[in-house]
Amino acid sequence: MYDYVIVGAGSAGCVLAHRLSADPSVRVLLLEAGGPDSSPFIHTPAMMGFLPDGAFDWRYRTVPQLHCNMRRFPWPRGRTLGGSSSINYMIYIRGHAADYDHWAELGNKGWSYREVLPLFKKSEHNERMEDRYHGRGGPLNVADHRFRHPLSEMFVDAAQAAGISPNPDFNGATQEGCGFYQLTQKDGVRWSTASAFFARPSRARISPSSPMRSPVGSASRAGARWESSTFAAASRPGPTPPGGAPVRRQHQLPAAPHALRRRARRASAGGGRRRGRGLARSGSESPGPSRDLSPHRDHGARLTLRRHPRAARGGAGRV
Ligand SMILES: Cc1cc2nc3c(=O)[nH]c(=O)nc-3n(C[C@H](O)[C@H](O)[C@H](O)COP(=O)(O)OP(=O)(O)OC[C@H]3O[C@@H](n4cnc5c(N)ncnc54)[C@H](O)[C@@H]3O)c2cc1C
Repeated sequence: MYDYVIVGAGSAGCVLAHRLSADPSVRVLLLEAGGPDSSPFIHTPAMMGFLPDGAFDWRYRTVPQLHCNMRRFPWPRGRTLGGSSSINYMIYIRGHAADYDHWAELGNKGWSYREVLPLFKKSEHNERMEDRYHGRGGPLNVADHRFRHPLSEMFVDAAQAAGISPNPDFNGATQEGCGFYQLTQKDGVRWSTASAFFARPSRARISPSSPMRSPVGSASRAGARWESSTFAAASRPGPTPPGGAPVRRQHQLPAAPHALRRRARRASAGGGRRRGRGLARSGSESPGPSRDLSPHRDHGARLTLRRHPRAARGGAGRV
């Protein structure tokens, strides 16, 4: 018997499971469509370039982009324990304080920067700082780079020489300036939300018989009271949870936003016929998240530098 069913063991899902299961009387079922996060590719930061579009990615594609000659682009989203935090670039960056305040002004209770800051600090273990903006002792390890490439140092120096002020902390008083990001890493390895919030004590609190990695599509067969078609667009049939997944307090917490967006689109296309039944779903269904979605593009540039032939002969050549 579960009190909460969390769909998606990504960044949000792992945090929710951790917080809810802190109360020993509460039983939490965390469902994840992807497989385990045991691959060294996930945990070795230098391998991060291989993760998008790889085995732990849903491999979504955008719709044809009007301003890019109608090309479609990859839109990576993690599909494993830890979700996108297991394939992301590990930059520890919070939103802008003014954005949180704006969301609060729009009527979202508890979202002002003053209110979210203590929660950021509570989650954090910052290896370098403990101050007004940063916490120590939380599960999410935040570290400085262990290695800085000389070219990166030169780039930051050049930015400062050009008049951009140095900023040693992009999650502090201001986000403006130039410097080096801090990272969600510990001892040189990725510190995903699964590593941080779903580690030993917390994993033990989540029911040991719970199918933490089973796709949600299997849950209806196992007894959880919503239709498998609710998330069918994003899940595959998989193992049935041992003993089923009856829900005591009847709460379903969807923590797989991209799956929800797809579902919202399907529901609106189908007149909402595919809605889940019998579970109180925390949150609301709104076209907003779909409509306002604006992923940032990430482009790599490769420069090849060659010695000028005259320089090679000992003359004053250019590169
Ligand atoms: C390549 C890349 C680089 C990034 N770099 C950074 C960075 O450096 N810094 C930063 O702050 N942010 C970065 N981000 C963004 C950040 O990682 C995400 O915003 C964040 O992890 C999203 O968390 P989430 O809980 O909303 O979703 P996710 O972490 O994606 O979790 C959703 C989970 O739900 C699961 N799921 C989906 N459908 C179902 C279903 N039907 N049944 C069961 N489970 C399901 C998924 O498999 C996934 O595990 C990056 C993202 C990507 C993809």
